Amino acid sequence: MTVVCAWCQRLGRAAVIGEKEPRDVKAITHGICDEHVLVVLAEARRSTVRASMASTLERKAS
Ligand SMILES: [Zn+2]
Repeated sequence: MTVVCAWCQRLGRAAVIGEKEPRDVKAITHGICDEHVLVVLAEARRSTVRASMASTLERKAS
């Protein structure tokens, strides 16, 4: 199976990350490349910060 990065694919970039068992099956499975792991982690961290800021503001308002 061919593993492609779903994020790269969405950007229209070369998205193949590698191969996965079973190798004789011609199918595509979605994964995430090293570059996009960082992007997703950074975004998750940002939204966590935003969520905790929002709850702090809500606490002050009430
Ligand atoms: Zn990617």
